[in-house]
Formats: sequence, structure tokens, C-alpha cells
Amino acid sequence: MRNIVLLGPPGAGKGTQATLLTARYGIPHISTGDIFRTNLKEQTPLGKQAGEYMNKGLLVPDDLVCDLVEDRLTWDDCKEGFLLDGFPRTIVQAERFDAFLEKQGIGLTAVLDMEAPEELLIPRISGRRVCKNCGKVYHVVNMPTKVEGVCDVCGGEVYQRKDDAEETVHARLAVYEEQTRPLTEYYRRTGRLVTIDASETPAHAFEQITAILGE
Ligand code: AMP
Repeated sequence: MRNIVLLGPPGAGKGTQATLLTARYGIPHISTGDIFRTNLKEQTPLGKQAGEYMNKGLLVPDDLVCDLVEDRLTWDDCKEGFLLDGFPRTIVQAERFDAFLEKQGIGLTAVLDMEAPEELLIPRISGRRVCKNCGKVYHVVNMPTKVEGVCDVCGGEVYQRKDDAEETVHARLAVYEEQTRPLTEYYRRTGRLVTIDASETPAHAFEQITAILGE
């Protein structure tokens, strides 16, 4: 069983590692951001509520996110573990999540803190493009699609997330520093934090992670 949390600022490469780790370990990738985006696209009540915060680069209220994650973790596909990407993001979420885990009688295998300097994060985020259909992530410079605007995998439309526009990126990084950064200390204190150097290639980060999580 592997219960993993991916921590790190936007642009550290959490989504990329999540895709690789899901393939390696067969555990589901649970991205709260992806769940909110799907709901926003489908204009569900949850999506409409979350969208008001997301589009400004702000965090969605803690209760809404915690309820969502706790429900998702009861699905059958989480029996062998899970990979959380983008949750928890505040101390309140982390504390509530710990209480939930305790009630379920499970613990976290590791909290992987992906770190890269800010000057690398901004171009990574503002160059990011995502397939509207299958969610595959590209980058205009580092990993472009073969045909501009068209997903290599499924032919879907490749677009820029609204919150990846440079104006919003600064707000998201500030929110990270203020509200999410304190989690590194929270998890370090409880011996669950592992720092990953995410300043180089995805393969370099993946190597460090698999060295910790095992084959
Ligand atoms: P992400 O794709 O992880 O960058 O998430 C996109 C947006 O969804 C964030 O900027 C927040 O507005 C919202 N969001 C995702 N996860 C959380 C969370 N754990 N707590 C609060 N808001 C979140």
C-alpha cells in the first residue's frame, strides 16, 4: 500500500510525476484541481462555486475540498493506495486530513515535496498547455505538440488553463508561499517529508522518487 501526497509550488511538475507514478505503481492520481476543472467545465454546483476562487488564483474553501477528498478516498480504486496531487494545501486541510486518516486506520507513506526555484516555475507554468479532452500536459518550449494546438495522443484541443496566464501565476505563487509552504514544516515535524529536487528534468525527479518508494 502506498499513500502518497505530492507537495510543491505550481510548476514544480507534480502533475507530470503523478502520471509517471500512477503508471509505475497502479494507484489512482487524485488531483483536486482536475476535479474542480471537470466540474467547472460541466457547470455543476461544485464547479460553479470553486470556479469563483480558481479563476483568481485563490484557494477554494477548506471544507469544500476536504469533503471532496474524503469522499473520493472511499472509492474502491484506493484500496492499494492513492496519490494526492494538490491536496492538502493549508494547515487546516492537513490537520483535518490527519484526523480522517487516523479514523480510517491508515497513514501516509511519504509527502514528496517537489522543490524548484521561482525563476524556473514562472516560465514552466505560463508555457504549459493542456489537452481539453484527455488532460495530457504539454509545454510550448520543453514539450510541444507535433501540430500546434492539437493533442498528439487523442487529437483534442490543446489550450492554456485560465489560471496559467502570467497575471494569475504570481497570485498563485504568493498563495503557495503564504498558505501551503507551512505544510513542509508540518510534515517534517512528523517525519513524513521527503524533499525532491525538481529543478531538472522529469526523469531526474522520477528517479529520486522511485528510489524512496521502491520498485
Ligand atoms: P491545481 O491544478 O492543483 O493548481 O489547482 C487549481 C486550482 O484549484 C487552485 O488554484 C485552487 O483554486 C483550486 N484547488 C485545488 N486544490 C485545492 C486545495 N487543496 N485547496 C484549495 N483550493 C484548491
